[in-house]
Amino acid sequence: MIETFWWFTPEQKAFAKDLDEFVDNHLEEVEECYWAKRFPWKTMEAVAEKGYMGAGVPKEYGGLDYGATGCCIVGEGLGRLYAVGHVFLFNMIGGLNQLLRFGTNEQKEKYLRQIAEGKVLGAVCITEPFAGSDAANVFTTAVQEGDHWILNGKKRMISGAGVAGRYFVYAKTSDDPTLKAQYRHITGFIVDRGVKGFTLEKINSLIGFDNIPNGYLDFDNVELSDEQRVGEIGSGWQIMMAGLNFERLLTSALSLGGISWVMQLVSHYMERRVQFNSQVQRFTNLQFDLADIVKKYYISRLVTYHTAYLLDHTKELKLTEFETGTWASVAKIYDIESGREIGSTAMQMTGGDGLCKFYPIERLLREAKIAEIGAGTTEIQKTLIYRMSQQKHGFLDFKYHFKIHPELGVPILTMAPSEWTGKEVNKENILKIMAEDFKCNPGLYMTPDDIKDLIKGRAKAVEAVLDELEKDGLIVTLRHPKTKKLILAKANYEGLRQAYPKEFYRWYPDWIKEDEFIMGMTKD
Ligand SMILES: Cc1cc2nc3c(=O)[nH]c(=O)nc-3n(C[C@H](O)[C@H](O)[C@H](O)COP(=O)(O)OP(=O)(O)OC[C@H]3O[C@@H](n4cnc5c(N)ncnc54)[C@H](O)[C@@H]3O)c2cc1C
Repeated sequence: MIETFWWFTPEQKAFAKDLDEFVDNHLEEVEECYWAKRFPWKTMEAVAEKGYMGAGVPKEYGGLDYGATGCCIVGEGLGRLYAVGHVFLFNMIGGLNQLLRFGTNEQKEKYLRQIAEGKVLGAVCITEPFAGSDAANVFTTAVQEGDHWILNGKKRMISGAGVAGRYFVYAKTSDDPTLKAQYRHITGFIVDRGVKGFTLEKINSLIGFDNIPNGYLDFDNVELSDEQRVGEIGSGWQIMMAGLNFERLLTSALSLGGISWVMQLVSHYMERRVQFNSQVQRFTNLQFDLADIVKKYYISRLVTYHTAYLLDHTKELKLTEFETGTWASVAKIYDIESGREIGSTAMQMTGGDGLCKFYPIERLLREAKIAEIGAGTTEIQKTLIYRMSQQKHGFLDFKYHFKIHPELGVPILTMAPSEWTGKEVNKENILKIMAEDFKCNPGLYMTPDDIKDLIKGRAKAVEAVLDELEKDGLIVTLRHPKTKKLILAKANYEGLRQAYPKEFYRWYPDWIKEDEFIMGMTKD
């Protein structure tokens, strides 16, 4: 069952209920396709008929207009139907968000309607033999000749290759190295199946893709009219990122379907499996494992639908693509890692049965594994999240500083102005500040700003004093390898000695009795 959240609209709640019924009604035919290794065309027709492909398409183009939340509801529902969930995903990523954001009216009229109808499926073509995580390194070229473009190159790992009728392709449209540095050398195009020179090269035999194709495409002097270009020439990177953020969110939604499926199956199993004359559900370890699965399921759902909400309210909340994109990365890695862990745990919980292909647990495990690579690897998501954390204004700012408590003699955190505020910026004072910092953070260096914030002096004056202290051999520094700008500084042993007498640095817990334990070690 797709549980709804309080913020869903009444239409979205009814939609979730409708999807639940659809999934139950089509489970058997999807199972048949899985075992017979047949593409689930019949179910896809039913999906199209229900209008689910149009969940995120505005009403004016024939869709339901339920936004990213609606798409996640479909993703979660169809995620219980294996291949069908994937097909929904590749239809969506084959242009929905890219067209909504960057398409012309004519393109929206033609292709958004096509997406909503769900009869012609879509695919996205980013990856190449040369371009994987480094998605900008496309070798496929599009050269403008008069009023049309000539496309040449190859794409690989393309989900829906062959069955899709609409391919959202990114090609290189400039060799200018300065544009390359700014990611302004890529342009997006829509290539319809059937155009001359566009062929299917190879289908991968891929873990997790049992009855849906993923493969290689070849573009050999494919002629495209300028109407097939989406967005400005050279703005393909921005379009790609918008598409990928949406893809990451939908990938997380898809995994929810698989997780809920396995969670329920494991609970069913635990009640019915008897060992040592007891239902295995009475074993605390299995109860804890199930609790852990439920916990991960709840958190995964929250992060997915929260991200969908942010995407649906980007304007009102004044969010940037960077912020919503980071949430999409968080949703993707959290849900997918949870899916993999749950798959593995569930297998352990169900013993030999869990390893058997008749149970869908190993499917979840395989699907989670491929999702750790597709739509950008986990490492790339982590890189993006790290970058965001560094760039988001004030997000990681540590506003406190340590001071030595006058009676306790221990470092405590404070926001109160430092006792050094307003004092003269000179060698003696700066060295003392650094010595006090040593007492609080013996392993850490200080930034010039740390010192400036304590003494409230001018940055230039602080840096000049640090230069002098370095020349005097009283501090060590870390400088930028090229510009030699001072990044960090720290008093060395001689500096510490000059700043304060030895006793200043001493501190022992109460239970240390100087005579008994230290045995004269504090005496010179
Ligand atoms: C099931 C599936 C479906 C897919 N469907 C599509 C599709 O429809 N369309 C499409 O265009 N592509 C698709 N892909 C391709 C997918 O997007 C790429 O596989 C993915 O981006 C990784 O690229 P790669 O395989 O070339 O690995 P590489 O980029 O070569 O990565 C190899 C390893 O190096 C690591 N790595 C690379 N760069 C960095 C870095 N900067 N920092 C840290 N680690 C790094 C990676 O994390 C990985 O561990 C699909 C892939 C899969 C598995």
